[in-house]
Amino acid sequence: MKTLQRTLSIIKPDAVEKGAEGDIISTLLNNKFRILGIKMLQLNKSQAEGFYAVHSSKPFFNSLTDFMASGPIVVMCLEKENAIADYRKLMGATNPANAEEGTIRKKWAESIEKNAVHGSDADDTARFELSYFFAGYELAK
Ligand code: ADP
Ligand code: MG
Repeated sequence: MKTLQRTLSIIKPDAVEKGAEGDIISTLLNNKFRILGIKMLQLNKSQAEGFYAVHSSKPFFNSLTDFMASGPIVVMCLEKENAIADYRKLMGATNPANAEEGTIRKKWAESIEKNAVHGSDADDTARFELSYFFAGYELAK
């Protein structure tokens, strides 16, 4: 049975710096994602660390959280059937060198760190990540 799912999308600082927001948002809408919530903001270092706490033991954690706090980002709540897996497919591989043609990362990512977009990877992480940025009243029904 198909069920509606929600996922968190972030347009990361490298992509905002390049002015890629419009292109990425068009790609999402063209691929049948509904945007239930959207806002632009800049994380501070500790907010970036909180968001990526799952990666705190990784060697790239300090660099990643510096990067995520380095400029404005666009955060979105996306809704669609099978949204979590479908959005990860549309994003492409973490390392743009491995990203397939037609994916957002193939078009916009510049490195394994500065890879243009974020997407939740499972139901429980989507719930945590959506609640990190959005209160219930900020999301369309
Ligand atoms: P994804 O964003 O595809 O879910 P991960 O959850 O594994 O990837 O990693 C989170 C983010 O950390 C990546 O999107 C990327 O910005 C950064 N990252 C992942 N692996 C590396 C690495 N080996 N070196 C530098 N940054 C990395
Ligand atoms: Mg991840």
